[in-house]
Amino acid sequence: MFRSVRGMKDLYGRESDKFDFILSNFRRIGERYGFGMIYTPLLEYTEVFHRSIGDETDVVSKEMYTFLDKGEESVTLRPEGTAGVIRSIVCEHMDQCLPVKLMYCGEMFRYDRPQKGRFRQFRQFGIEYVGDKSPYTDAITIAIAADCVRSIGLFDFKISLNSLGDDESRENYTKAIVKYFSRHEERLSEESRARLKKNPLRILDSKNKQDIEICSMAPILLDYLSKESRVYFNRVCSLLEDYSINYEVNNFLVRGLDYYSHTAFEILPTSGSYREALGGGGRYDKLLSVFGGQDASGIGFAIGIDRLMLLMDDFFVQNERRKVAVVPVSEDENPIAFSIFRDLQHCGITSEFIHLGNLAKKMKIADRLGCDIAIILGENEIQSQNATIKFMNTRETTNKTKIIRISDIVNFLRSK
Ligand code: AMP
Repeated sequence: MFRSVRGMKDLYGRESDKFDFILSNFRRIGERYGFGMIYTPLLEYTEVFHRSIGDETDVVSKEMYTFLDKGEESVTLRPEGTAGVIRSIVCEHMDQCLPVKLMYCGEMFRYDRPQKGRFRQFRQFGIEYVGDKSPYTDAITIAIAADCVRSIGLFDFKISLNSLGDDESRENYTKAIVKYFSRHEERLSEESRARLKKNPLRILDSKNKQDIEICSMAPILLDYLSKESRVYFNRVCSLLEDYSINYEVNNFLVRGLDYYSHTAFEILPTSGSYREALGGGGRYDKLLSVFGGQDASGIGFAIGIDRLMLLMDDFFVQNERRKVAVVPVSEDENPIAFSIFRDLQHCGITSEFIHLGNLAKKMKIADRLGCDIAIILGENEIQSQNATIKFMNTRETTNKTKIIRISDIVNFLRSK
């Protein structure tokens, strides 16, 4: 028996309904704020991720699906959406005319240990807002993320917020943490000791218990912000207050990717047993120039749709979609039933033509397919130009059937 690849699942039935519900809400919100959809390839040249996300990050150093294609080129299944979108903005010269406002949705791949809410193939919805650097843009971007989460009925969440400052702030901060971590070097994990030399900021991402303990006493970035970065951050905070967005400053939030500067944020659930991040994002000042584009800053976020689906288990109700079964009693009624079915389809009424087995079996199939109205066509009915309408899945015990003229079926169903 074949199974799907570990950490990668099939989405169908209730789960694909949930996915479609989330995505249609998110797209509507993106459109409302003026974002257009972009679809980039699932595969990029590996260098795209090395150059943008950073070699020392967990995502690049441990989690990428990288392989040589038949032309001996190193390619990688995208682990996140921003790098590909920015690569595309530059390649397609979209950065000649700023601002650029794009949203995306699609599969991402990370070779991580599968567990609750963590898969090897998962889906993200995200936006990128490029070329409009201002605290207003940061606040709007965070507001969009919050609107998205609220739009699917999740209200118990907070925004965890930090500033990574400008280059000068991060240089000063890096010096301070190198000094601090060097004092604790022997107690750091091997990986963090290596990062101390190559990319000390990434020590703050460590999942090692002892590293986490050492990190909790480390200097904090906010104390090293340049004056401009501090003013910028304070302005973002006060705009979020104006927007009534519930946020909390988290001094140790650095996000797991190298390209961030200034604002960084994550969305965290505040009730229930699952408390991992639902989404995250931030500002990037250098990403476009990494790909050879304009010297423009951008901000974006990505929300993990699979995690939201997990949290929605408790309250998601499938859309009450009316679905009609057209049921001939015997083969003799197939032609008239089929022509009624075609009329319903032409009028945009969701319907099924159910013609296999005896009447009892047909009604069972109609029920399994989620039909809530059956139009039953037997010999007697057809002779008198009538059909029997049966209301299924109803708690009522009376008025479960109704006789109707065949010519009135479409109007009757339209009024339902
Ligand atoms: P990141 O770019 O790592 O901050 O990811 C943004 C969001 O994507 C996270 O907050 C999660 O909701 C989701 N996400 C990241 N990695 C995974 C994964 N392996 N499985 C499922 N969702 C993920």
